[in-house]
Amino acid sequence: MLTLQLLPAREGDAIWVRWGSADVPYQMLIDMGTQETGTELRERISALPEDQRAFELIVVTHIDRDHIGGLLSCLVDAELLPGFTAKDFWFNGFAHLDGLKPQGEFESMGAVQGERLSRWLDKQNWNKQFAGEAVCCENKLPLPYRDFEGGMRLTVLGPTAKRLSELKSVWRKEVEAALKKTQQSTASEGLERMGTSSHRTLENKAALADLAEQQLARDNSPANASSIALLLEYQDTRILLAGDAFSTDLKESVQLISPDQPLELTAFKVPHHGSRRNLCKALIESVNCRFWLISTDGSRFQHPDDEAVARILIHSKHRPATVGFNVRSEFNEKWDSDDWRQKFDYCTTYGNAEDGLSLKFQGGSILVTQ
Ligand SMILES: [Zn+2]
Repeated sequence: MLTLQLLPAREGDAIWVRWGSADVPYQMLIDMGTQETGTELRERISALPEDQRAFELIVVTHIDRDHIGGLLSCLVDAELLPGFTAKDFWFNGFAHLDGLKPQGEFESMGAVQGERLSRWLDKQNWNKQFAGEAVCCENKLPLPYRDFEGGMRLTVLGPTAKRLSELKSVWRKEVEAALKKTQQSTASEGLERMGTSSHRTLENKAALADLAEQQLARDNSPANASSIALLLEYQDTRILLAGDAFSTDLKESVQLISPDQPLELTAFKVPHHGSRRNLCKALIESVNCRFWLISTDGSRFQHPDDEAVARILIHSKHRPATVGFNVRSEFNEKWDSDDWRQKFDYCTTYGNAEDGLSLKFQGGSILVTQ
């Protein structure tokens, strides 16, 4: 069995993956959400018997606070959690941006919180499965992969070494923003989406197609571009976990693996919480995906963008297009419409505020368990 739980993580990602036997599964986390999410994650881990707190892997896809914040509050800034172990942490720190590995006592991350994080990471197994070097790939085959106990494989689809090096000049600023203690929503962040209403009228398929063609500007954040993007394979299930990666970068990696036809995917956690800047038609058409997953409650950035959801519904090769939202919000509930589902040929699933969205993959079927 394989299960994927997209936990409620505010505007971010916190994905708990379990595989193997249902009683004592192997487990890993892909991102840990915001600092608030980390506190909740700690409670979830604490609720497990001590002998079930071992993780095969924890991945922090990139430095942004909605992905790394939870690592601080759950583990770095908290007491040792009895029984908790992680065989490896995949995270690209400052030295990795140069293609080096962290040397000496500890790596400097350029901010007080960052120093604490690197001190802590230095005591863990940090990118151990990559001999301490960066978790990254080149834009050519073979893409690096690692096999895990229980028969799970992760293939690295991004970032490239070039994308890591581009993060260097803004690293300090990004770390400071990511690791700040206080949560603050700034006016400028909210402005990105002002004017888009929570409700929307879509008369017909032409209107949906028109929406899909709007706002085509691309993401230009070096931090997002540095996201560790992974292809998870377990038995007959294949899931793309994209962090906040760039649409075009993902498409290039997907086409490397499957140059002649769309890559068959069981599920796809789309990049950057369904931002219109990270989901282009070419990426959507490069896969044949049964279940599109979006993780965000709409905090701060009011994701997902309507244009991005419209693109999925219009361009999804697999029909009907099925979209799963980890929690219901004023920004995604408009898609919960019988009229639209019928008119536009799609299905929706919403997780709940408590546990998010849980999917179970077995024998070719996908079950929503929460
Ligand atoms: Zn994010």
